[in-house]
Amino acid sequence: MDDRQRITARLLRYVEIDSESLSEGDMASLLAKELSDLGLEVEIDGTASLTGSQTGNIIARLRGAEGWPLMFSAHMDTVKPGKGVRPRIKDGVVKSDGTTVLGADDKAGIAAILEALRLVKEKNIPHGTIEVVFSVCEEIGLRGAKHVDISGLQARMAFVLDSGGEVGDVVVQGPAQEKIEILVHGKESHAGVSPEKGISAIYLAAKAVSEMRLFRVDEETTANIGSIEGGGATNIIPALVRLTAEARSLDDRKLDAQVAHMRECFEKAVAGLEATVEFKHEKMYSAFKISEDSPPVKCAKAAAERLGFRGISVTSGGGSDTNIYNAKGLPAVNIGIAMHKAHTKEEFIAIDDLEKARDLVLAIIEEGRILT
Ligand code: ZN
Ligand code: CA
Repeated sequence: MDDRQRITARLLRYVEIDSESLSEGDMASLLAKELSDLGLEVEIDGTASLTGSQTGNIIARLRGAEGWPLMFSAHMDTVKPGKGVRPRIKDGVVKSDGTTVLGADDKAGIAAILEALRLVKEKNIPHGTIEVVFSVCEEIGLRGAKHVDISGLQARMAFVLDSGGEVGDVVVQGPAQEKIEILVHGKESHAGVSPEKGISAIYLAAKAVSEMRLFRVDEETTANIGSIEGGGATNIIPALVRLTAEARSLDDRKLDAQVAHMRECFEKAVAGLEATVEFKHEKMYSAFKISEDSPPVKCAKAAAERLGFRGISVTSGGGSDTNIYNAKGLPAVNIGIAMHKAHTKEEFIAIDDLEKARDLVLAIIEEGRILT
């Protein structure tokens, strides 16, 4: 098998293993074995009870003497429907059979890292210390990464392979996110006999939402109501609705302001009435912004340039483990690996891009080795 066939076979092997969030056990066992066969020290951290997953995160290390210790990371979990993936290859592109996601998000990242490590070993490519973190539960709130013990790592910079865009694009900025749940309590009454005695929770919620700044709130901030449920029979004035919502911003203060605004809209809607609002929100992760002259940005761009990739800086609209590593004090960038239509059944990745991602990992290893 040549290198192209090897990385293709590796991706297929990984996507055929079920690993929806929380169920990463089989994937973790396989990867732990493969990493250890390649000569890495491998540990599965003891965070399963904290994340609720079948397994902890994989932390592996290949020691080297030169340059800067660095870390590559990807996540082992996939979104649903991710069970029983049957990959298909057509015209150099890998897809599912259309009934599930493919799970290139993020198994393409894992395959690129493992294939690069295989080549480092087989070809005796010089390297500094390389750490590998494969996280669980990225797709359900970056849970695995949140529990990674950074103090146990040697890495001084991290490269997360978990973005769309062209291979080698560097995500230098990502938004913070708040998850919001709202309960609107009104008052039940018979809609035909005594409607004046009722207070419609649906009406109040509608009023609040219609007053709300949503969608693209400003150039850095977005917000959305994702669901609304409640009520029942048409002859009853509904006493309860539940809404779920989210808000994101590249600026943590703007995010706080948006959440406060959303709360205010609900409070205004019920003011002076025999109705109440429970407004719960949770910050899922903070925003991150990493400067152009930070070591991971410089290394990623130098590596991209070495390979003739465009290597531009981009801003992400979503969160990733990168937000968490930066918040923990480990400078990290997310790197484009050209996964397409992630989180859909049409998800695909080109084998050419898989090879490019592997080559990029090798080039970053070299940049880290010569970094002083
Ligand atoms: Zn991902
Ligand atoms: Ca994802």
